[in-house]
Amino acid sequence: MAEQRFATSVYTSRLRRAAELTAEAGLDVVVVTPGPDLRYLIGSRAETFERLTALVVPADGDAYVVVPRMELAALRDSAVGEAGLEVRDWVDGVDPYALALDGLGVVRRLAVSEATPALHTVPLATVSDASPQLATPVLRRLRMLKDAAEVDALRQAGAAIDRVHARMAQWLRAGRTEREVASDIAAAIVEEGHAEADFVIVASGPNGADPHHEVSDRVIGDGETVVVDIGGPTELGYNSDSTRTYATGLVPDGIQDAFAALQRAQQAAVDAVRPGVTAESVDAAARRVLQDAGLADRFIHRTGHGIGLSVHEEPYIVAGNALELEPGMTFSIEPGIYFPGEWGARIEDIVVVTDDGVEPLNVRPHALTEL
Ligand code: ZN
Ligand code: ZN
Repeated sequence: MAEQRFATSVYTSRLRRAAELTAEAGLDVVVVTPGPDLRYLIGSRAETFERLTALVVPADGDAYVVVPRMELAALRDSAVGEAGLEVRDWVDGVDPYALALDGLGVVRRLAVSEATPALHTVPLATVSDASPQLATPVLRRLRMLKDAAEVDALRQAGAAIDRVHARMAQWLRAGRTEREVASDIAAAIVEEGHAEADFVIVASGPNGADPHHEVSDRVIGDGETVVVDIGGPTELGYNSDSTRTYATGLVPDGIQDAFAALQRAQQAAVDAVRPGVTAESVDAAARRVLQDAGLADRFIHRTGHGIGLSVHEEPYIVAGNALELEPGMTFSIEPGIYFPGEWGARIEDIVVVTDDGVEPLNVRPHALTEL
């Protein structure tokens, strides 16, 4: 099986930074329950259940883990053991929330990870003197700026999903249903190096005009556009996400022309990426090209989203986001054009901001490929 986490030293240094940032944010403690933040900090793929499993990061002192004794095995693959973290295991009948905050003194400022359910947040409030807040300020910057190993993990995810798109002609053709094609794609996503297929969108003809369409039993017609947006996590947990638009035979000139403008818009946005420019300026670069082509009102969503251990995370490439891009940020560039009742198209690549520009992590051709 492929590697499921990085070297232990990676996690110990992340935990150290998290404690520093907890103190800087003026918090007493951050509680992280299973989800992408927990995976980021200790490499754990544990899941959230009704019994509390949590990493506790005090501003002062060492981080430790609270876990039901019956779920200790869930931490085996994580860095908890090798990093020498204290493990506070508990059995039914014990109050795990009191255990989580035991020894911290009076807790007045407590934050929880975004993935922490109310089921755990409310009892934490009850045993402390805090109104829990989100730990986002502590973890946002850490997770947004990827190190070289994370970029490499995303590069491998990108190559894996590129290999799936390269095989599209095996499955995608007129006469098959979207669902049949999607099921073949899902299998290939795993074959080509993902732990699982997280999402498979096959949107043919008029369904392509709905950015949220997933699959249906619609039979794909001849001479139609088909939007294929696919991705999933690799064993390390880093996600792929790539969209290509295909054509089942010759499509009308009007579609060809509009698609050519979409290609230019996507390229303009990629070309706009470099350190120091704002996220919203990248969005504007794509929008400007589509506006010049008379397609501004066909582009009905943001240009992109950050990607890493979550498919959607910061930074969001959207109007109003003045965040300056920095090396190590990774996000999608995915403008689309949508004609309700008729057709739609989208092109999506993941890119990483480098020291002096941009590196696309998906390299399949963008052209409206005729299958
Ligand atoms: Zn996508
Ligand atoms: Zn995306």
